[in-house]
Amino acid sequence: MNINENYLNLEDSYLFSTIAKKVAEYTKANPDKKLIKMGIGDVTLPLAPVVVKAIKNAADEMGVQATFRGYGPEQGYDFLREEIKKYYARKNVDIALDEIFISDGAKSDLGNILDIFSLDNTVLIPDPVYPVYVDTNVMAGRKIIFADANESNGFLPLPDDNVKCDIIYICSPNNPTGAVYTKDGLKKWVDYAIKNDAVILFDAAYECFIKSSELPSSIYEIEGAKKCAIEFCSFSKTAGFTGTRCGYTVVPKTLVRQGQMLNKFWTRRQTTKFNGVPYIVQKAAAAIFSEEGQKQIKENLSYYSENAKIISETMDKKGIWYTGGKHSPYIWLKCPNNMKSWEFFDYLLTNIAVVGTPGAGFGRNGDGYFRLTSFGNRENTIEAMRRFSELIN
Ligand SMILES: *Cc1c(COP(=O)(O)O)cnc(C)c1O
Repeated sequence: MNINENYLNLEDSYLFSTIAKKVAEYTKANPDKKLIKMGIGDVTLPLAPVVVKAIKNAADEMGVQATFRGYGPEQGYDFLREEIKKYYARKNVDIALDEIFISDGAKSDLGNILDIFSLDNTVLIPDPVYPVYVDTNVMAGRKIIFADANESNGFLPLPDDNVKCDIIYICSPNNPTGAVYTKDGLKKWVDYAIKNDAVILFDAAYECFIKSSELPSSIYEIEGAKKCAIEFCSFSKTAGFTGTRCGYTVVPKTLVRQGQMLNKFWTRRQTTKFNGVPYIVQKAAAAIFSEEGQKQIKENLSYYSENAKIISETMDKKGIWYTGGKHSPYIWLKCPNNMKSWEFFDYLLTNIAVVGTPGAGFGRNGDGYFRLTSFGNRENTIEAMRRFSELIN
């Protein structure tokens, strides 16, 4: 037998293990210092009460003969797909039920979707980026090219007609940069994809952080997108489902390549390799869409947004260049005094016991930048920014 040698081409990710090691060394040497973690990419607030109630009710149903459920539909229960369809309708986007696929989260589907594409495709990935896009394509052995995101384009690269590619990853609002495409920006990508017969994989995991209807929270708000884009969404950041696991993927039936509907391919892939998300979890997700549910998750989102505002205001006060913060839980800042990412990491850790994420961990263009998150608690965010203000002149 032969192993998949593509795995040998994966670059080891030392980002979070190096952070953990440095933090452990610091706390051992400074047991009396109160460390504040502003590097986490995970939510911290608990599930909304409506969600917890739905989980309990669904669990009770599973324990009663009359309401017990076994295998569900692979693409998800209609009660949840109906809610998602209505959610899109409120954005003036018309999506059919059989274009919605319930998943156990965006990460799995972002990787799994590659099953339906040829290995010969060239993939375009922005740099810096969420590492999943790169690694899943390295595992499959596809050719990857990068689109440079940097200060001059506000970390929102636009298509280059001289560059040819078949699969394009776009994440907006972006992790790690917090940058958000305008409708004009996304339109350029949609036009490029249609012209080049490419497919856009649009990661909308942070769509709920968008606070202006002027900014697109779905790529389908852009004319033509249903002919060239697949959208990935998740309840992880929207409703604290990082440990509960549920998301959805939209594959429009109008997305046709070589005469084939990609929706049909994805349906076939999912019915073969996936057996759906637990009924209990789908009930939990559906509860988010109730009036009460929407109110409760918005309270949590506002809490994070207020943290983001506190961080952004500190950067403004210090004259530090950054992206994100307003429509994103992330603030992506330029390290002061031309420090490199890891240099700045050490500087914050040793001087003020604040931990962030070095931008260098997200790609070549990330060096010299630093990610702070608003997923912590209020008191710590305020205290971290107080220390930051004292340290940075
Ligand atoms: C958190 C995150 C997701 C969501 O992943 P899940 O598997 O749904 O938890 C997707 N994309 C990006 C860029 C993320 O940061």
